[in-house]
Amino acid sequence: MSVARRMSLARRMSVPRARRAGPAAGLAAVAGGLLALWLRPPFWAVRIAGRLLPDVLFCVDTPQRAIALTIDDGPDPATTELVLETLARHDAQATFFVLGGRGSDHPRLLQRIVGHGHELGNHTWRAEPSARLQSTELDVSIRDTQRLIEAVAPVGLLRPGSGWVTRRVRAAAHDNDLRCVLGSIYPYDLLFRSKPYIVRYVLGRARPGAIVILHEGPTAGTRIVDVLEAVLPRLRERGYRVTTVSDLVRDGARRADQ
Ligand SMILES: [Zn+2]
Repeated sequence: MSVARRMSLARRMSVPRARRAGPAAGLAAVAGGLLALWLRPPFWAVRIAGRLLPDVLFCVDTPQRAIALTIDDGPDPATTELVLETLARHDAQATFFVLGGRGSDHPRLLQRIVGHGHELGNHTWRAEPSARLQSTELDVSIRDTQRLIEAVAPVGLLRPGSGWVTRRVRAAAHDNDLRCVLGSIYPYDLLFRSKPYIVRYVLGRARPGAIVILHEGPTAGTRIVDVLEAVLPRLRERGYRVTTVSDLVRDGARRADQ
C-alpha cells in the first residue's frame, strides 16, 4: 500500500472516532461550564438570578461601600464567642442565620449575638436541605425556629438549608412573613477548606451591596475566625463597611428614595 493511500485510510478511520468523541467532549465542556458557573458564579449571573427570583435576596443595589456578612449554622459553643470577638475587634456587624436546634441547646449564645449588635436570621431547625422537606415539615421547622429566636429579637429573614430555593421553599418563606436571603459571595467554605482560597475568593468578589456567606459550627470549626481575621482588615482598607443584611437593605432603600 502506498504511503498516500495508507494516510488517506488512516484519515478516514480517524474521522468517526473524532465524531464519536465530539458529543462526549461537548457534554463534558457544558457540564464543566455549568459546574464552574455554579461554584463561581460571575456577578452578572447573580444579578440575573435576582431578577428571575425577585422575592429572593442575592445582593443589594447600592453605591455605598457596604457589604453584608452572613454566618450560617450556629450558634456553636466552640466558635460563636470567638467570631463575636473577631467581629468586635474589626468593628464589623453580621447576620447570624442560626439553626433552631442549636439555638435551643445554647440560648445564651443567641442573646450574646444580639447583645453585640448583630442580627439573627432563621436557618430552619436543623442542617438539612429545605427543598427536600415536605411542605408541612418545612413549615414546622421554620415556625419552631422563628418562635425560639423571636423570643430574643425580631427576625424577618430566612436562609433555607443548603440554599436551594424551590417554589415550596419560597412559599414557606412567604407564609411565615420572612424574606428569603441567599447571597452573592459564597466560597463553599464547607467544601473548599483552604483558608487562602476562601480569603482570595471573598476579596476578589467584594463589591458594594454584596452578601457574603460563611459558616461556623461543628463542621466548619474555627476556620471562619482565621478567614475573618484576614478578610475584615482588607475590606476596611478598601473603604468597606461590613454590616448586617437588614442594614444593607436599608442602604439600598435609602438610595431608591433619593
Ligand atoms: Zn446551613
